[in-house]
Amino acid sequence: VPELPDVERFRRVLVEHAVGARIVEVVVHDAGVVRNETAPQFVRNLKGKVFGEPQRRGKWLLAPTNGPTILFHFGMTGSLDAAKTGDPPQRFDRLTFITDRGQLAFRDQRKLKGIWLARSKSDVEELIGPQGPDALGLSEDQLSDCLKTSRRPLKSVLMDQTVIAGLGNMLSDEILWRSHLHPTCRFVNLEQRQQQRLARSLQRVLVSSIKAGRIPRSRSWLNSQRTESDPHCPRCGHRLQTSKIGGRTSYWCPTCQPHAAS
Ligand SMILES: [Zn+2]
Repeated sequence: VPELPDVERFRRVLVEHAVGARIVEVVVHDAGVVRNETAPQFVRNLKGKVFGEPQRRGKWLLAPTNGPTILFHFGMTGSLDAAKTGDPPQRFDRLTFITDRGQLAFRDQRKLKGIWLARSKSDVEELIGPQGPDALGLSEDQLSDCLKTSRRPLKSVLMDQTVIAGLGNMLSDEILWRSHLHPTCRFVNLEQRQQQRLARSLQRVLVSSIKAGRIPRSRSWLNSQRTESDPHCPRCGHRLQTSKIGGRTSYWCPTCQPHAAS
């Protein structure tokens, strides 16, 4: 599931393979991923344009050109990958940008989100909608400013893109587990040292994940247990618990993340 580190990886694909490249052709294999134009309009608006410096905003990837800006959202299964000129499309390739330097494939099995074109800065803001500050680089004070007004369960607040942009289900679980915080605890009830630990864990998890290009599957990470039939805490060995919070399946350790009265 693409979260901040994955989108950061796709941004780097653009930096390495697209910046300065001219779009020679756009092949739309599945018009369903082009969200605010028809496929022929989309192709016509981008043909001949040159990619500028890409930018990530939470889970959104913005790829400006010397014409419109391309907005990518990867939903649950999307990706952006570079390929060599002439490489045949892979399964679930929905759209291919052919440039004078190679190919870029937008691949997405479930097509929950897709690709938009924005003509101006205000267009970009309107399409992205209200977003909190990007999670990467948030200081303890900034994090506190984002979270202190909400009385919702911490896990739900962390995943809310209008509060903090970039965190999804898996990152939030990992951050809470590292912080020794129960997913349904309230930020307002945390002690200073717990807030500090949350802010520090959040940045550490992000930095390590960005370095790996995704949330690591390492045995020392909670994330490694998500696909296990009998998941256990990598820290204390206790059996992990799961439940739905904010509509998503949460994993936590009842020993390391005790439920505090709130
Ligand atoms: Zn544990």
